[in-house]
Amino acid sequence: MALDTILVYAVPMVGVWAAYLATRRKREAHSLAKLSAAKEAGMMEPASLHPVIDPSKCIGCGSCVRACPEGDILGLIGGKAELVEPSHCIGHGACKAACPANAITLVFGTATRGIDIPNVDENFQTNVPGIFIAGELGGMGLVRNAIEQGRQAIDSVRKLVAASTSEPGLLDLVIVGCGPAGFSASLAAMQHKMRFVTLEQDTLGGTITHFPRGKLVMTAPFTLSLAGKFNFTELSKEELVGLFEKIAAEIGLKVNEGERVETIAAAGNCFEVKSARGVYKTRAVLLTIGRRGTPRMLDVPGEDQSKVVYRLIDPEQYRGQRVLVVGGGDAALEAACAVADQPDTVVTLSHRSGSFNRAKLKNRDRVADAQESGRLNVMLNSSIQRIGLDDVDVKLGEETCTLENDAVIGCVGGILPTPFLESIGIKVETKYGTA
Ligand SMILES: Cc1cc2nc3c(=O)[nH]c(=O)nc-3n(C[C@H](O)[C@H](O)[C@H](O)COP(=O)(O)OP(=O)(O)OC[C@H]3O[C@@H](n4cnc5c(N)ncnc54)[C@H](O)[C@@H]3O)c2cc1C
Repeated sequence: MALDTILVYAVPMVGVWAAYLATRRKREAHSLAKLSAAKEAGMMEPASLHPVIDPSKCIGCGSCVRACPEGDILGLIGGKAELVEPSHCIGHGACKAACPANAITLVFGTATRGIDIPNVDENFQTNVPGIFIAGELGGMGLVRNAIEQGRQAIDSVRKLVAASTSEPGLLDLVIVGCGPAGFSASLAAMQHKMRFVTLEQDTLGGTITHFPRGKLVMTAPFTLSLAGKFNFTELSKEELVGLFEKIAAEIGLKVNEGERVETIAAAGNCFEVKSARGVYKTRAVLLTIGRRGTPRMLDVPGEDQSKVVYRLIDPEQYRGQRVLVVGGGDAALEAACAVADQPDTVVTLSHRSGSFNRAKLKNRDRVADAQESGRLNVMLNSSIQRIGLDDVDVKLGEETCTLENDAVIGCVGGILPTPFLESIGIKVETKYGTA
């Protein structure tokens, strides 16, 4: 073949190859930057189910990177896939399905951070007969899984209820928690005309209601009893919660919102489920309480007012208000800065210690900037004493000062579900990177 013919083919090929290498290098630099930022911020632990990539099997094709619905949580470094933003992984598992080389295993927990998984059999029943678990609490995250499991768990509960004797005043089932799993289970229980109540400490919708405003929820099509099949793949958090509320209203599902279950105890061949509002006697209990836990209370007089919340959902709602944020972790710092960014707000951040050393550097810097520019008042070594209608008392050293106040956001951590499960007798196993 003549040299000029070779050149005609070779030059474009070399050009294409060079462009490919340049793009690849750019992507790799982006992934490396993300990975080092995650390491620096100490954000290397995935929350629950996540992929582990076997480098000896990974062929570096990038299918997993492209398949992740959350964006670039995975990246290619040195021609191999890696988790570059581990703490953002919510366990879709799409990476595993997309990998042509079978190089990905989905695991719970890591060697350094165990994940508590309760003992649940294939019928959703725990080691305590009559108590069932569905949804993320059982280990499987995601909205669709929770919906499917909620409905399927009701089939198992019905078998148990059908095999036991009924008594007047005895419920068939108490459903605890009304996120996607509890909502789906409630609709299925209604469809089967069970005698049940659904108790939710917060509001219908569960974890989804706490997503940031406008967050896109990626999901697979799902079916809700009495309501039908929904073919969404992506919708906003507001649309999804709105859909749940619309269905509940149309079908007449009653959810006891703001009612937290405190204890569950066996009483003969049934259970007593106790909340602050009453005691429910039931033959079965379905726990759909997720894994995020219950926010810790501030434990001060006046806390029961509607102006006190434990999570920031929408900073804009505080425009023009005097707000006290309590806490010293990332959630508190992020909330305080987000509210302080709103026009005409007067924001105070109260923390009982002398520094924010548990929070990420990025958030500490944000607080320092807001403080310096006068948008945020920081009170270290302080503690909230009382919440009034339009003021709050905060103790600072030996002095107590009264601040004008329209809203309080408590971010003082949460109580995880494990002690609650153990108090009921449910066995919990801690998984350290187990498939
Ligand atoms: C930031 C983030 C983004 C996510 N994005 C997606 C996404 O795009 N797509 C997706 O499919 N999944 C996503 N997920 C995961 C999804 O939100 C969860 O898997 C899903 O909500 C689990 O549903 P659930 O019903 O099991 O639990 P939850 O939704 O957690 O609901 C549990 C409910 O139980 C209540 N509860 C707890 N304890 C008690 C008690 N003692 N008494 C009464 N009530 C109680 C809680 O208040 C809560 O309402 C995301 C999660 C997070 C954190």
